[in-house]
Amino acid sequence: MDLGLQGKWAIVCASSKGLGLGCATALAREGVNLVMNARTPGPLNEAAETLRREHGIDVRAVACDITTEEGREKVLAACDAPDILVNNAGGPPPGMWTDWEREDFIRALDANMLTPIALIKAVLPGMMERGWGRIVNITSQSVKSPIPVLGLSNSARAGLTGYVAGTSRQVASSGVTINNLLPGIHATDRADALDRAVVEAEGITMEEARARRAATIPAGRYGTIEEFGAACAWLCSQYAGYVVGQNILLDGGAVNTTL
Ligand code: NAP
Repeated sequence: MDLGLQGKWAIVCASSKGLGLGCATALAREGVNLVMNARTPGPLNEAAETLRREHGIDVRAVACDITTEEGREKVLAACDAPDILVNNAGGPPPGMWTDWEREDFIRALDANMLTPIALIKAVLPGMMERGWGRIVNITSQSVKSPIPVLGLSNSARAGLTGYVAGTSRQVASSGVTINNLLPGIHATDRADALDRAVVEAEGITMEEARARRAATIPAGRYGTIEEFGAACAWLCSQYAGYVVGQNILLDGGAVNTTL
């Protein structure tokens, strides 16, 4: 299936590894040129070179912290007229409600709510003027079903979800869609960090922690970044223009709801 994205430009934030890399790779496969971003230059440049070589696309790698104003300016400066924006950043650390002070909330809001909102606000006018755009925010299944140890994430992502619900409807008639992808557990460094926290708290092995988590998922396994990227590419495609303000779970059935 031709997703109709050949030659378009995408900014994919936080994309040297994990879910962001899955999205960048799936878009590259469709012939989309990329601005890729992460804080650490080594893995970022390596990932960018792989996608350039394997897909013959233009890739600009911008090493910076996307949660800072300076970082966002650098990323935006690398692409005059982005057709696609994939918002992503590292998730806040796990903990207990007693751990979190005002500064912890401000950091989480900056990274997982105010950063995507700032980028959306920056790219929307151009997309609307050109009459086409796709914005996808990587959030979390915790938006639909809170994960108690991820209270900082639950809070910040709920805020972004509310913003997207309203804004996506304000801009939909211009040909720009904004939607959220909600990952359940996927096999990435982030999942390793969450499982390591269980290992440390409960004195079990990594294998036991993973098996225990996998057993709670109807699919019986962790998701892959390839599956996640494919869903993102479809949401960016010419076929998804009528999908507006949605929260799409990719969780192997983990969130137990009818709707
Ligand atoms: P990951 O495997 O740890 O990858 C994170 C990527 O983001 C890396 O490329 C990292 O590179 C980059 N990054 C992190 N912070 C950044 C920043 N401030 N500025 C620029 N780049 C940054 O994480 P992931 O599993 O793909 O998770 C991505 C998002 O999905 C996170 O917000 C996570 O909470 C959420 N999520 C993940 C899962 C899951 O199971 N994996 C489930 C639900 C939600 P550098 O470190 O070099 O910057």
